[in-house]
Amino acid sequence: MKVATSTANRPIDDTQNCLVCGGAYKPSHLPGLFKCSSCGFISANLQIPEAELEALYGTDYFHGQEYLDYAAEAESLRVNFRRRISTLNQLRPNLIEAELFEIGCAYGYFLQEVAPSVRRAFGIDISADAVERAIKDQNVAAEHADYLSYDLGRKVDVITMWDTIEHLKRPDLFVEKAADDLKTGGLLAITTGDIGSYVARLRGKHWRMIHPPTHLHYFSVNTLSRLLKRHKLNVVYVAHPGNSRRLRSVLYFLLVLKGKQRRLYDALRGSPVFNLDLTVNLFDIMYVVARKP
Ligand SMILES: [Zn+2]
Repeated sequence: MKVATSTANRPIDDTQNCLVCGGAYKPSHLPGLFKCSSCGFISANLQIPEAELEALYGTDYFHGQEYLDYAAEAESLRVNFRRRISTLNQLRPNLIEAELFEIGCAYGYFLQEVAPSVRRAFGIDISADAVERAIKDQNVAAEHADYLSYDLGRKVDVITMWDTIEHLKRPDLFVEKAADDLKTGGLLAITTGDIGSYVARLRGKHWRMIHPPTHLHYFSVNTLSRLLKRHKLNVVYVAHPGNSRRLRSVLYFLLVLKGKQRRLYDALRGSPVFNLDLTVNLFDIMYVVARKP
């Protein structure tokens, strides 16, 4: 992964105001990050050039530091996606009649997982490589596009952004467009780290989600709710779900990625015991859903 260290320590532009409330950014207690003096929203240096950001999400991205092997994680991702879908089902009666759009669909696992639960699911991603694999391997309706210049062609019932908002330079513009792209009563569902959580506060600069410049913005329940409200979206659901991992992907990580024991992994992987899921919850990832009134 190419990390743009050259701009990491340069201060935020003086003219840059908080994307949540319009307040002024000041250096925060976290090195290299800035905090709004009014609402407390935390952002990385936003002076990073567009081209550098795009370079971050090239072919290497999903095989880089953040995702050791996204495809091998598929089973675990699906377990978590199924739980998120079940929440959407509770919040949106007749989800089966809904049209769902995903911003940041990556390899298409969520689109494939949600397909039987909705009338139509489609999505986009900024990574051309990921979209190609989503279409080819998962057979989903994915497109390589930038959301801010993307025309959905019609308003939709549900928009999802899984672990995406922290990567965006202008999450405010994404939320504004999503609010516009939703039908009345439509839902915007977001997951991201919660910097207001106990673990984040305890870990400080060592919190696992502190990762500029790939993670540019660090929301709390409060600042994310404020941003959504600013764009006339009502928060209807807030949770801190655990992250489940299929034991098989833990085994893959330990034996193949760490231990280089591919043969042992292949011998063991078929055992039904590895179909079990292990849920770890640090309560530092939030799942927030807002409704367009
Ligand atoms: Zn602010």
